[in-house]
Amino acid sequence: MENYKKIIEDIYLEIKNVEDIGKVPNYIPELSKINPDNFGINITTIDRQNFGIGDFNKKFSIQSVSKIFSLALAYKFEGVNLWERVDVEPSGNPFNSLLQLEADKGKPRNPFINAGAIVVCDVLVGHLKNPKEEFLDFCREISNNESLNYSEKIAHSEKISGFRNIALCNFIKSFGNIKNDVDEVLDFYFHICSLEMSCKELSEIALFLADDNFTTHKGNKVLTMSKAKRMNAILLTCGFYDESGEFAFRVGLPGKSGVGGGIVAIHPDKYCIAVWSPKLNIKGNSFKGMLFLEKFTSKTASSIF
Ligand code: GLU
Repeated sequence: MENYKKIIEDIYLEIKNVEDIGKVPNYIPELSKINPDNFGINITTIDRQNFGIGDFNKKFSIQSVSKIFSLALAYKFEGVNLWERVDVEPSGNPFNSLLQLEADKGKPRNPFINAGAIVVCDVLVGHLKNPKEEFLDFCREISNNESLNYSEKIAHSEKISGFRNIALCNFIKSFGNIKNDVDEVLDFYFHICSLEMSCKELSEIALFLADDNFTTHKGNKVLTMSKAKRMNAILLTCGFYDESGEFAFRVGLPGKSGVGGGIVAIHPDKYCIAVWSPKLNIKGNSFKGMLFLEKFTSKTASSIF
């Protein structure tokens, strides 16, 4: 940890003053109100040591990062059958694109683009009696953190401005790949995206993907080793919208970003690291977050390659 700590401090100071060419997104009105200067980092090693700097304890909207947890839960329920509903290929298109779905007959390219995450939500709505509560319970259990919660404000803001997601869900339903009521699936989707966490909470909750022997405080295993390995593979190839190749190239870790400006990256068997900086580059990934992680894995020589 000492080695990571010094390197994180140095890169934090270096990047804090770099001009941020990103922009805070405004398509979800509530998200645009965030102070763009927030910048925090937290690392959690698999032996449960933590180190954070900057705004690492402030909660923010994790947005698409929550798709990791919805996928984990759906994968747990469905096993390989899940891949009949959603593919595992990078999309090469923007995260909210409708384009490819027509050609692919309503089967989304992967579970991390919006179309795929909406199908995953449909799977969960089919399995859970009270999807919102039970999903939250799942997240609370894997993080051993009862304080995790949705932001009703953000969920509402997204609901009233989520025209593309509403279109996506209806479009997929027309192909028969949404089984439940569209409004119920979307309400669940908007809620999982509104989940709030700090960098510290985010790097802690992702540990189930880094630690082969992970069990929750209740003694439950989250995923088998084989399933965790596959999830990391999808995160590496699809976790950063149509910039996943670039992230693998520059950073070299599986991970996931969200339009709230958060990124979590996983080094299997070593650590999880979360970065938050709200201004996004043109592809929707945190500008400073990516820069930070690129420097971090270079200086610590700790990419997976
Ligand atoms: N809730 C956002 C949306 O559906 C998530 C986007 C993201 O973080 O990638 O547009």
